[in-house]
Amino acid sequence: MKLSESALFMIRRQAARIKATGNFYAKRLEGIEPGDIRTKADFEKLPFSEKADLRDAYPLGLAAVPEEQIVRIHSSSGTTGTPVIIPYTQKDVDDWAELFRRCYEIAGVTNRDRIHITPGYGLWTAGIGFQLGAEKLGAMTIPMGPGNTEKQLQFMRDMKSTVLCATSSYALLLAEEIAKRGIRDEICLKKGVIGSERWGEKMRTRIASELGVELYDIYGLTEIYGPGIAINCEHNTGMHYFDDYLYFEIIDPKTGKVLPDGELGELVITTLQKEGAPLIRYRTHDLTRIVPDDVPCPCGRKYPRIDVILGRTDDMVKVKGVNIFPGQIDDILREVEGASSEYQVFIDHEEGRDRITVFVETALPADARPGFEAALKDTFKSRINVGILPKAVSIGDLPRSEKKSTRIFDYRY
Ligand code: ZN
Repeated sequence: MKLSESALFMIRRQAARIKATGNFYAKRLEGIEPGDIRTKADFEKLPFSEKADLRDAYPLGLAAVPEEQIVRIHSSSGTTGTPVIIPYTQKDVDDWAELFRRCYEIAGVTNRDRIHITPGYGLWTAGIGFQLGAEKLGAMTIPMGPGNTEKQLQFMRDMKSTVLCATSSYALLLAEEIAKRGIRDEICLKKGVIGSERWGEKMRTRIASELGVELYDIYGLTEIYGPGIAINCEHNTGMHYFDDYLYFEIIDPKTGKVLPDGELGELVITTLQKEGAPLIRYRTHDLTRIVPDDVPCPCGRKYPRIDVILGRTDDMVKVKGVNIFPGQIDDILREVEGASSEYQVFIDHEEGRDRITVFVETALPADARPGFEAALKDTFKSRINVGILPKAVSIGDLPRSEKKSTRIFDYRY
């Protein structure tokens, strides 16, 4: 991704602001003068920041402005105890609303729409982000928050909501309830703006067809404003993001090396305008790629694009020169007739070469399994260009785990 002169100027300003705080990142910038960040190469020498750094700054160590300028905090829940607190100035709040307004606009939402918001309001950034962006757009908002399906459906019907904002799982639940009650004709929804977690094509198709809506993936994280920093347009060529507020890089999660556009890796974000809690080179651990701009999006927008989020980089392994991650394996298994969603992958080193053994549960009888294994092998080869050793096992043979990441075992080291 190109780093423009104006972005570099804003980065110098952010670095100066951070240095004045004396916080963790200021310490990391010791010996670096903001004025010395003149080129993309200078910028790429700056250290990364991580969620753990933010946690260590609890409660208000991230604040880069005097307290009287902070108007709000948000918090991202960690899986490990200490939360992360992000302070916002009024400009940060306004900027976020502007980014979110653009997202709605890219999704074709207008001030004639009625926006039904089901993500939660409170410490986390979801509900209120959807709300402020919609108000800035001038649309009527229906601030439902989560839960109480009965009331959701009543308001959706009576208020004639046209846009549903939800997580994919809640959108699916509502779609199923609408189908169950046979009230689809009374629902006026046209679009769904769905928080970007990884969700399979199957789920997407079901939500879209049961609700009769077009779906848009919206991306964001509390550490960087919140949801509303990227969204796909109707051409589905990836999610447009706002390079006047944010600089995106993709790095190799193992080496930290910046990767060329088009290559899959970890998304790293630098805020260009944030005042309350500016972040430089923040590692998101989200796996995606920058969509090369040699083929512009047919919508004509100049905003660059990233791919939909394909998973977490923590779950990725590199084998035979190819990055493999659980989400990709889910997709491959969906293509193979007879494959269940349960699998395990073992990677080891045999006679100087990496070997990938893939166990997949299937209900197929023994005589059908050789054909099934051959199909698995072919599909891995054609989809991600790696040779595997396929092993069909019976349903229930593999241990069950909540976490997808515990399905890939790397025994090479
Ligand atoms: Zn577009």
